[in-house]
Amino acid sequence: MYDIVIVGCGTAGMTAAIYALRNNKSVLILESEAVGGQIAFSPKVENFPTYKSISGEDLSNKMFEQVLDLGAQFELETVLSVEKRADGAFVVKTDVAEHTARAVILATGAKQKHIGIANEDKLLGKGVYYCAICDGAFYKGKEVALIGDGNTAMQSAILLSSICTKVYMLTWFDKFFGDESHVTTIRNTENIIVMPNTNVVDFIGDDGLQGLKVVRRDDGSEFILSVPAVFVAIGQVPDNKRFSNLVEIDKDGYIIADDSMRTITEGLFVAGDTRQKTIRQLTTATGDGAIAAMSAISYLNK
Ligand SMILES: Cc1cc2nc3c(=O)[nH]c(=O)nc-3n(C[C@H](O)[C@H](O)[C@H](O)COP(=O)(O)OP(=O)(O)OC[C@H]3O[C@@H](n4cnc5c(N)ncnc54)[C@H](O)[C@@H]3O)c2cc1C
Repeated sequence: MYDIVIVGCGTAGMTAAIYALRNNKSVLILESEAVGGQIAFSPKVENFPTYKSISGEDLSNKMFEQVLDLGAQFELETVLSVEKRADGAFVVKTDVAEHTARAVILATGAKQKHIGIANEDKLLGKGVYYCAICDGAFYKGKEVALIGDGNTAMQSAILLSSICTKVYMLTWFDKFFGDESHVTTIRNTENIIVMPNTNVVDFIGDDGLQGLKVVRRDDGSEFILSVPAVFVAIGQVPDNKRFSNLVEIDKDGYIIADDSMRTITEGLFVAGDTRQKTIRQLTTATGDGAIAAMSAISYLNK
């Protein structure tokens, strides 16, 4: 039986592993896709203390190396369910095995919602982005587009408007779905140009984005918006239903935890983007990971 099973080998999961291992706990990390989580897909990270600029892949490989050096066990398995036995131990079922642990940390992250058009994956990181905080600075002094109409989209547009010369904000309807204060800021910011009732149907470009093909939803006419970058901010999708027997989940699918990363089940903790919170970044994921591990350690030491 492991002391701690960590579900997800992203930034939060790996940070939790470092803290747990350095406190002499045995750790198994389970990962369904690839080491590193979301950040492994980012060509450049420039807001993580220590490295002025580093690719997300290099950053996560360094974290993984550190975790393995400290003695973590790692398996590429998808966790299907977690159950708590009468003796207090957890049973973690995956697509290939069953593991037992005295504590579990869920660090399953979230995925950015994609629009689902043909060139979207091909141009990811080459003009197509999902995180204005992370990648907006690469387009300083340039015109960019942003797709979305909720709070994240509005906050992203406001942020981009302070970096870029123009932000074309494409919305499906002719209204926003979020805080009135953001709407007012958007309306009062000269270099945010709202393009309502629009549907982006294609990302144009081979090696880099050259523009968007847009359809006006009211009359069906088409136009090309020439921009080197588009930020897609149509939401994130966590995937936590499988844990709903043991945790509280909010209406958007995020796990609710207290400041110590404790869930409603004793011995079950959560960390990173998959938890209900406001800022989803590497630095907040590492913070969560450290806190979750320390909480798990004090639970185990009780
Ligand atoms: C393109 C892009 C660029 C970004 N750039 C930056 C940046 O420059 N700076 C910054 O601070 N932030 C950036 N971010 C945000 C940052 O990547 C996230 O905040 C951070 O990765 C969150 O870490 P996490 O460990 O909570 O989740 P994730 O990184 O999402 O890791 C979760 C892991 O859990 C795994 N998992 C999920 N479910 C299961 C399961 N059932 N069984 C097993 N494994 C499972 C997933 O496969 C994944 O590997 C960027 C995000 C993206 C998408």
